[in-house]
Amino acid sequence: MSVLPAFDILEPATVEEAVALKSEHPGARYLAGGTDLVPNLRRGIGSPDRLISLAATSALQRFEDTPEGLVIGAGVRLSELAESALLRAPHAALATAAGSIAGPGHRAMATVGGNLCLDTRCVFYNQSRWWRAANNYCLKLNGDTCHVQKKGDKCVAAYSGDLAPALMVLGAEVEIATAGGRRRLALASLFREDGKDYLDLGPADLLVAVHLPPLSDLRSGYLKSRVRQSMDFPLAGVAAAIRCEGDRIADLAVAITGTNSRPILLEGLQDLTGAALDEALLDALGKSVARSIKPMRTTSMPSLYRRQMAGVLARRLVSRLYEERN
Ligand code: FAD
Ligand code: SF4
Repeated sequence: MSVLPAFDILEPATVEEAVALKSEHPGARYLAGGTDLVPNLRRGIGSPDRLISLAATSALQRFEDTPEGLVIGAGVRLSELAESALLRAPHAALATAAGSIAGPGHRAMATVGGNLCLDTRCVFYNQSRWWRAANNYCLKLNGDTCHVQKKGDKCVAAYSGDLAPALMVLGAEVEIATAGGRRRLALASLFREDGKDYLDLGPADLLVAVHLPPLSDLRSGYLKSRVRQSMDFPLAGVAAAIRCEGDRIADLAVAITGTNSRPILLEGLQDLTGAALDEALLDALGKSVARSIKPMRTTSMPSLYRRQMAGVLARRLVSRLYEERN
């Protein structure tokens, strides 16, 4: 790692001011907890002349239970989220995912917005500048070749945020402030299957909050595979939410992170509902996982291992949530 490049820090007090500053200074970057951005800057990944700190933007700290559901501000810290009494049994996936991110010191600084907007990762990218220079860089930054998919013309770096799949299975929407006002969209629509251009955000767009619908009689959970259990990004992370009526599965949602350039919400799972859980259903779930994800050699672990782990974790988690239904 190198020393940080020189930059000015701007401190907007309101969301509108933050968006106006970013529109005025397109080369600036939003800074939340800095636990992803700052290490990357120290690797020479980006050299913004200004950082727009969100620390004083108090509207981003909103965290409340409303009749329309939970509102979680983009500036809410992961340590607060993981331990919040506002998260009840149906939100277990979210509390578990938040508590599994990095280490306690990181979680005390890291935010919900920063986690959702986390840069995609790759063994050829999360390296010092001299290491990347020795490899002629790559097409995500400064170069023109992908070392993972050599004949490809697209970066396949992996999205590795833990919160996104948990929020997806709970039906989250995100609120985004733009230069022209505000928009709200399903969380899955925030992401693109492109390791270089992985967020559907305009240059000044600011994530303001996550909205969750009211949840009841739902069980959810999160499991992740990682190299170091104490503190590491997911090689594959699986969130699931299940609602049962007696022994029958009435609703099922599964989402996966760490395997693609975006978190994946499995489609077509309604075909697996309406009956009790059995081996055939778990096999069908495993097939759906295998069809939906495409891990590439972007981590130190082989792609096949991550593919298989995603399937194993999905089966294990859905079985566990089903067993806990009564
Ligand atoms: P920042 O670093 O401040 O920002 C990250 C990105 O989001 C930047 O591009 C920034 O411009 C943008 N951004 C921030 N807020 C907003 C907003 N409101 N609107 C628009 N853009 C915004 N992450 C995991 O998910 N799982 C892990 O297991 C994990 N392990 C880690 C281990 C280590 C050792 C380290 C150093 C990091 C790890 N991380 C992990 C990454 C990081 O700590 C977390 O993802 C964290 O939640 C990032 O949040 P932040 O507030 O620090 O983001
Ligand atoms: Fe670079 Fe390819 Fe890795 Fe993307 S996937 S960061 S282009 S080596």
